[in-house]
Amino acid sequence: MKRILITGAAGFLGSHLCDRFVRDGYHVIGMDNLITGRLKNIEHLFKLEQFEFYNNDVSKFIHIPGKLDYILHFASPASPIDYLKIPIQTLKVGSLGIHNCLGLAKAKGARVLIASTSEVYGDPTVHPQTESYWGNVNPVGPRGVYDEAKRFQEAITMAYHNFHGIETRIVRIFNTYGPRMRLNDGRVLPAFIGQALRGEDLTIFGDGSQTRSFCYVDDLVEGIVRLLHSDYAQPVNVGNPSEITISQFAEEIIKLTGTSQKVIYKDLPVDDPKQRQPDISKARAILNWEPKIDRAEGLKRTYAYFQTLTKDELEETDHYNFDKYIIK
Ligand code: UDP
Repeated sequence: MKRILITGAAGFLGSHLCDRFVRDGYHVIGMDNLITGRLKNIEHLFKLEQFEFYNNDVSKFIHIPGKLDYILHFASPASPIDYLKIPIQTLKVGSLGIHNCLGLAKAKGARVLIASTSEVYGDPTVHPQTESYWGNVNPVGPRGVYDEAKRFQEAITMAYHNFHGIETRIVRIFNTYGPRMRLNDGRVLPAFIGQALRGEDLTIFGDGSQTRSFCYVDDLVEGIVRLLHSDYAQPVNVGNPSEITISQFAEEIIKLTGTSQKVIYKDLPVDDPKQRQPDISKARAILNWEPKIDRAEGLKRTYAYFQTLTKDELEETDHYNFDKYIIK
C-alpha cells in the first residue's frame, strides 16, 4: 500500500485530497494544526484503518514513522482575511513548513507536491496567466505574506529538486470552490452564499468589474492527482478558464439561492487583482487534463452543502482564538 502524507488535511482542499487518496487505496496520513482547518471535514475518515491523523504544526519538527511515498503540502491559510489575521503563521507554513516537508522527503525518498497559487502572479499584467509569467506582486502589501511565502515555497522546492535530486511537483491553483469551504473565511463564494442564507445583502468589493475564474474542487483534485503521477517538475496552472466579473457572479448566486436581497458596494481591498484567468495549455498538453464541471453544476453542488449547515454554523463569524496564536 502506498503511503501519502497530506498537510492541511482538515482544510477545504486537504480534506478532499484525503478522500480521493483513500478512495484510490492509499494509506493516508493527515496532518493539521487546526488553525483554519476543521476536524468536521475529515471526521468520516477516522474509522478507517487506512487513515491516521496527526494534530501537528508542520512549521515545527515533523516525524512520520515508517515508509512514505508521497507528501502533499497543502497546509496554509488561503484567504485574504486569514492572511490579515494570522500573517506570521502564513509566512511560516510556506517557508519553515515546506522546509520540514522537503527534509522529510529527502530522508524517506518521497515525492513532494506543493500547493502553489495564482497569487504568485500578483495583480497580473499578462492575461490570461501562463506559467512563464513572473508576476506583479507587492511584497509589503496585505497579500504579501501569502504571495511571497508561496513564491519562496516554489524556490526552495526547485532548489531541493535541483540540488538534492528530490522528486517535486508544483501546482499553481486558481480560485477553487466546493463543499467544505469555510463560511467565514472571507472568500467571495462562501461570503455571498452565507449572506444569501442569512438574508443579508451581498457585499461586492469595488465596482464588481474585477474578474475571477472559478474551478470546482473535484476538477482541481483530478488535476493534482495527474500532476503527482506525471514526471514534470516545473509549475503547472490548474484552474477553470471560464472567467466572470464579480458582479456577474453575485447575480448567479442571487439566482441560485433565490434570495430577495440586493447587492451593496464596499471599498475594494488593497492590491485586489483586477483580473485572473488561468492559461491551462500546459495542463492540457502534459496532464491531458481540463475541467469537466461547469459553474452551474458546481454551484448547485456547493449550495447543497451550505444548506446542510446548522443555524449556529451559519451565524458563526469568527472561530480564531487569538490568545493561542500570539507569536512570542
Ligand atoms: N469579494 C467581494 N465580496 C466579498 C468577498 C470578496 O466582492 O464579500 C471580491 C474580492 O474583492 C475579490 C473577489 O471577490 O475581488 C474574489 O475574492 P476572494 O477573496 O474569494 O479571492 P481572491 O481575491 O484571493 O481571488
